[in-house]
Amino acid sequence: MRLLLVEDDRMIGESLRGALRQAGFAVDWVRDGRAADSTMSSERFDLALLDLGLPGRDGIEVLQALRARGDRTPVIVVTARDTLASRVRGLDEGADDYIVKPFELDELLARIRAVLRRHAGRAEPALTVENVTLDPATREVRRDGVPLALSAREYAVLEALMLRPGAILSRAQLEDRLYGWGEELESNAISVYVHQLRRKLGDGFIHTVRGVGYYVGPPKSPA
Ligand code: CA
Repeated sequence: MRLLLVEDDRMIGESLRGALRQAGFAVDWVRDGRAADSTMSSERFDLALLDLGLPGRDGIEVLQALRARGDRTPVIVVTARDTLASRVRGLDEGADDYIVKPFELDELLARIRAVLRRHAGRAEPALTVENVTLDPATREVRRDGVPLALSAREYAVLEALMLRPGAILSRAQLEDRLYGWGEELESNAISVYVHQLRRKLGDGFIHTVRGVGYYVGPPKSPA
């Protein structure tokens, strides 16, 4: 999952980016409203965390512009403005949720999961493909009911594939979901994670389409 963090406070930004990466998200960080505008116009994110008090362009204006473009990227407003009026305004302008600073990381993570779940239109939070179940709320993965220990990156690859069974994701698309800007990336990283996942999930779970990418779900007959 790829998140955009819009936050002008360096300390908050650095600690949030670190914590969210730790939690297995790919995180990009911009520090002013105009950069948020241009980044969200040109790149796709699974969710944005948007501070309201920003230099350049206010967070509410960023949100208005985003929705005016017809962009439905989920947005959680992260703000110190804990007055009722600013919260209501944020929601009215198309935010999916808000959280007031200071907040506990666990609460933010729970809100991110809830928003992503609603956005995906899933009432049932756990994803199931064949004998494998993945619960985004607990980040628990089970094979035949038995919990598996996955690294944050392995989990991220598996989640991306299980969100859309049958859809072939290229290495570049998977890399995009795993890494923020400027993060070091070995050229064979995705193959390594897929290899590790196959050891844990069994060989037949993740299918390779040579030269194209990977998918899960019923095997496709070769074209
Ligand atoms: Ca701010």
